Amino acid sequence: MTPEESRGGLPRMNTIQERPASNRPIVESPEAARQGSMQEVDWRDFRDHIATADKDGRRRWLYPKAPLGIWHRRRAWFASLLILVMFAGPWIRIQGNPLLLFNLVERRFSILGQIFWPQDSVVFAVAMLVFISGIVVFTVAFGRLWCGWACPQTVMMEMVFRKVEYLIDGDSTAQRALAAAPWTLSKIARRFLKHAVYFGLSLVVGNTLLAYIIGSEALLAIQFDDPRRHWVGLTFMTLFSLLFYAIFARFREQACTFICPYGRFQSALLDENSMVVAYDRRRGERRAPLHRDQGPESRKSSGLGDCVDCRQCVAVCPTGIDIRDGTQMECVNCTACIDACDGIMHKVGNTTGLIRFASQNHLERGEPQRFTRRMAMYSIVLTALIGVFLWLVLSRSPVETTFLRVSGSLYQSLPDGRIRNLFSVKMINKSHEPLPVEVRLENLPGSVRLMGATNPVVPVGQYLQTSALIDLEPAQLTGSTTELKLGVYSNGRLLERVATQFSGPRNSSTKTTP
Ligand code: SF4
Ligand code: SF4
Repeated sequence: MTPEESRGGLPRMNTIQERPASNRPIVESPEAARQGSMQEVDWRDFRDHIATADKDGRRRWLYPKAPLGIWHRRRAWFASLLILVMFAGPWIRIQGNPLLLFNLVERRFSILGQIFWPQDSVVFAVAMLVFISGIVVFTVAFGRLWCGWACPQTVMMEMVFRKVEYLIDGDSTAQRALAAAPWTLSKIARRFLKHAVYFGLSLVVGNTLLAYIIGSEALLAIQFDDPRRHWVGLTFMTLFSLLFYAIFARFREQACTFICPYGRFQSALLDENSMVVAYDRRRGERRAPLHRDQGPESRKSSGLGDCVDCRQCVAVCPTGIDIRDGTQMECVNCTACIDACDGIMHKVGNTTGLIRFASQNHLERGEPQRFTRRMAMYSIVLTALIGVFLWLVLSRSPVETTFLRVSGSLYQSLPDGRIRNLFSVKMINKSHEPLPVEVRLENLPGSVRLMGATNPVVPVGQYLQTSALIDLEPAQLTGSTTELKLGVYSNGRLLERVATQFSGPRNSSTKTTP
């Protein structure tokens, strides 16, 4: 009895299966393996190699069949919504600010219309933690649903570029035939058309990414101004477009398998209670083709399972795997195999769900989906992080002020005996309205004067950089440095309190001009 049989005839879903003794690794080159220069690969074991490479390491190009079915329709609707949000994101304004902006050049960021600055690094760090913990919780509960349903790479690949391919080249069989056909005028024309559309779409994607980085106004300037004034922007626009063209036209599913780290650490997150796209091995095995006049009952009585070995689930898989081998790193939970198998089950008059969303415990032991302690712990962490994030955002002051003594300067004794310090001031307006500002001393009597305009105003989403003079009576000083507390007011309303240090003579009666 194999280890799998001793567990009820089911292979483990998430881990590398132990190989039976009869299934020993095949050494590609015994000499090379002896020298340790080549990894031993068993080409009969799907876990030893990826589905998109052959024995020589060459790319196996995939021609997945167009998926059809209820899950695909749901996915198409969801993807349409995501694509709409993705492309409209840089153009939507909330109180004058972009819905989403990641302006790395000017170090200005906008999330849901809230302007963030590099000084908000704590908010960013917590937002990143919320994002990562959210994905972790989601993966523990629902596997790689993010990858197949919400990741921009999969959404664009499967719902836009793949659809264009089906439209121009036809379905899987037609695509294979076209690939094998000689280079006739018609093939050249179709290839040219497809790649021209691909490049056009990549241009749109590249421009959208640029708009997220530099803002929609800057993008429009690059597009419509004199190109000589925007050669840096035009260079990036071209690079982004070429990059997306390479990804969607050539690299495709390899991005998920080779580059994206998320697929790699999913195996550490999934457990027996995670819901994943899975084949019901107990119901499906022993698989065998369907014979004429064979019904589900007669198959059962002859010791056969419900899988008719039609391989439709493999034919539609955009990552080229056979889900009947168990959960694999390449699977993005796109649900195409569920639709394909359900279609076959309908045709053969059997109940659907041979491939479905289910946990290993459900498939092996018939247990219902449970909210496990692990999920609860991750959820508590996520909830706490969301709480911290909301607190940071909601308690964020509309203005952020830095008030620092000008480096190299000490103090100045005025003719009337008062001591003066020169400060450099920077105020960032994070609100949605221009802020007239005024600074007052809060803990000591004295005067504060901002240089420049009489009534300084900080424009929306920008900063004011100026100098300030603070004069204090010597009697107020507590030594060579005195702690000052300053209040930043706008129209009489206290926005923020800042602390700084005032420099004075060690003995306040000494009059020195450094
Ligand atoms: S195995 Fe099924 S769910 Fe996984 S990637 Fe392939 S088609 Fe999608
Ligand atoms: S589509 Fe269903 S019946 Fe056909 S091979 Fe896959 S699991 Fe078996």
